[in-house]
Amino acid sequence: MNARHPWLADRTEHFASSGIRRVFDLAAKLKDPINLSIGQPDFDVPDAIRDAAADAIQAGKNGYSPTQGIAPLRERLAEQIRERHPDQDRDVFVCSGTSGGLVLAMLATVDPGDEVIFADPYFVMYPALVAMCGGVPVPVDVGPDGRWDPADVEAAVTSRTKAIVVNSPSNPSGQVMSPEDAARIADVARRHDVLLISDEIYSRFVYDGPFDSMANHHDRCLVVDGFSKSHAMTGWRVGWVHGPKEVVSAMLKIQQYSFVCSPQPAQWGGLAAMDVDLSAHIDDYRRKRDRIVDGIGDVYDVAAPGGAFYAFPRLPAGIGGDEFVKRAVDRNLLVIPGHIFSRHDTHFRLSFAASDETLDRGIDVLRELADG
Ligand code: PMP
Repeated sequence: MNARHPWLADRTEHFASSGIRRVFDLAAKLKDPINLSIGQPDFDVPDAIRDAAADAIQAGKNGYSPTQGIAPLRERLAEQIRERHPDQDRDVFVCSGTSGGLVLAMLATVDPGDEVIFADPYFVMYPALVAMCGGVPVPVDVGPDGRWDPADVEAAVTSRTKAIVVNSPSNPSGQVMSPEDAARIADVARRHDVLLISDEIYSRFVYDGPFDSMANHHDRCLVVDGFSKSHAMTGWRVGWVHGPKEVVSAMLKIQQYSFVCSPQPAQWGGLAAMDVDLSAHIDDYRRKRDRIVDGIGDVYDVAAPGGAFYAFPRLPAGIGGDEFVKRAVDRNLLVIPGHIFSRHDTHFRLSFAASDETLDRGIDVLRELADG
């Protein structure tokens, strides 16, 4: 490894940006790859949202917005949150994507030495952000069935635990937590007085029942959500946070001195997004989920994803993730090695946010690779 440049801070050492980028570099070299590596929807931003953002730009709504977001969007979000959690006192603000919300949540709560618990496999940002704040990431393995056992979460709690991060539906596995497990994890957080942070960015992509927010189980849970995935607005940077007043107001103070605000025209797009019906897209993704599970479920050990647009199959016996991805790339297929999302090199992530034709081509190659 190269020595760090003397100008750079310790915190730059805590994460490797190389993993997913290496796959994208490979993608750039392939002609017409079968790309099952992408973490964003394969549909474009719905017209009503594009029109609203374009109108906002033309109408001169191009300046800073209030730190907490434009009032009409914040009011719509607050109304939705009040409807869903009528007995709770939740503050809400608009942030610069769910990532922005997560950054602020960590900066506002994690002191050096504080421990933050999350599931392994995890979204890549969790360990990186905790470590950047000087905290200690505490990954807790999910079971072989993909389930995160609340008893294991409780066993990981120490006197230094500051927060538990929940991500259901999950990136990278697509697993959805049962209401029973959610209630038990909420109970662990309550009994040990640790903050529960729920990353609900895939809340709209749930295929086998209604979405169950962590806020249904814990009135002081901090929820982070956003429009990136649901409305294909990944480049627009509009998310929101709701939760306990004291945490939200500390996060807003930091937003004021960092992100300043989510881009104003994109927030007007977000307001229009609140009225867009996503059911056709969700139905489509449910079908794609079934297509992938039916296509490879007999030759890979894979827990059927209940949400998001990812599956996390076990690698064929005796092959590491990098070698598997290399073999896939040799056949023009792009998937991501699981060790990027885990301390273990045992799985790979595929995204089914792709056309049916791409999925079918991907399934054919994956079946060829299944024997190792
Ligand atoms: N959380 C999870 C679990 C994600 O998968 C992603 C995007 N890959 C994000 C947060 C960040 O999303 P954004 O910042 O675009 O809202």
